[in-house]
Amino acid sequence: MKVVIVGAGPAGLITALNLVQRGISPLVLEKGSEVKSTACSEGCSLQSLSQIPFRSEPYISRVLKGAKLVFPDGSVSFVAKECAVLDRTDWLMGMAEEISLKAGEIRLNSEVVDIDEHSLRLKNGEYIDYHILIGADGPDSRIATHLGIKHKLIVASQYQLALDTSSMDYIEFYFDKKFASGYPWIFPKVGVANVGIEGDFAILDSFLKYRGLNKETVVKKDSGLIPGSGIGKLVQKNIALIGDAASMPNPTSLGGLTPIICASQILARHINNLAAYEVEINNHPMANPILLKPRQTIMSFSNQDLANIGKFLAGFRHGRAPYPQLMKIAKYPSLLLKLNKLRTIYQAGMITEEYGW
Ligand SMILES: Cc1cc2nc3c(=O)[nH]c(=O)nc-3n(C[C@H](O)[C@H](O)[C@H](O)COP(=O)(O)OP(=O)(O)OC[C@H]3O[C@@H](n4cnc5c(N)ncnc54)[C@H](O)[C@@H]3O)c2cc1C
Repeated sequence: MKVVIVGAGPAGLITALNLVQRGISPLVLEKGSEVKSTACSEGCSLQSLSQIPFRSEPYISRVLKGAKLVFPDGSVSFVAKECAVLDRTDWLMGMAEEISLKAGEIRLNSEVVDIDEHSLRLKNGEYIDYHILIGADGPDSRIATHLGIKHKLIVASQYQLALDTSSMDYIEFYFDKKFASGYPWIFPKVGVANVGIEGDFAILDSFLKYRGLNKETVVKKDSGLIPGSGIGKLVQKNIALIGDAASMPNPTSLGGLTPIICASQILARHINNLAAYEVEINNHPMANPILLKPRQTIMSFSNQDLANIGKFLAGFRHGRAPYPQLMKIAKYPSLLLKLNKLRTIYQAGMITEEYGW
């Protein structure tokens, strides 16, 4: 059985590793002349990384204690869940090397330009036959387009700044109406930090100024697209989608790596029955529609509400509270009126924490 994977990003490579582990030797086609990262803040929970059949440790720049949530009045809350910030290009290259060593094949400079039921045409005119085709070709997926699938895409902008990060032990998220397009983040690495936002560079620049980072040296400037419509159709006959091509990023956190890691195991297990892959993914917590709600809901709150949420959460160690303590929310009458919205955010947060973000 010939399995062809289009795209040597995380989705293509992690799927290939899972297939190789099951004795299947896939062919991975990559349009670029090298394996390298797209725009990414490079964060992933350690729990997720440990599920890849590959040693990711050598490619971790920093292990952080979890996430720090910062609110408009400066109050902070912590989510204790260890996470890694990767050197993502090196990590992808390491995985590609392992796939090649273990009987998989990676072909660079191989852009797929046309697809029919049993063969692909490359830009150089060559035809490649397949039995099973896996579209792992990112947010602007040609394979998804071939299947008639279109995702809503979010623009995200990012700087890598040269920064002394030695005292930064958490990734940071900021919840503030000033940056209304989304919540900005800072992911510290060694000597640099990835600072990004959902939106354009003008908003990101205003965040840098607010955070006192506008004088730091920009090492890299990058933008990219994140599918934000949640998981829908994934399979048609002998073609399956995974990763951004399948709109898999968690719509609450916008993290794409953990869903890929989970989905690639499921896809490898069902490689002979793609319909079962689609069913299992659609029943997985990653496809829970509640995950679509929190980003918009949070942005619908006023800064006063956000500050009150911050004060409320700051009272608990690591954002977790025994149930009776949750009643302390009664101190904030405006939040009491929004209990339903808060419950949705809480539930999405718990799902995200359960399977990794
Ligand atoms: C600014 C930003 C920050 C982010 N930060 C994080 C984060 O910290 N943590 C996290 O988990 N997620 C993050 N994400 C999301 C994450 O980067 C993506 O979900 C992830 O890269 C998706 O991997 P993929 O393999 O599906 O697609 P991609 O990484 O896009 O890889 C697709 C590959 O397919 C190749 N390709 C495309 N078309 C063709 C073709 N026709 N023929 C052959 N090859 C083709 C491309 O060259 C590419 O190598 C971030 C996204 C952005 C934009």
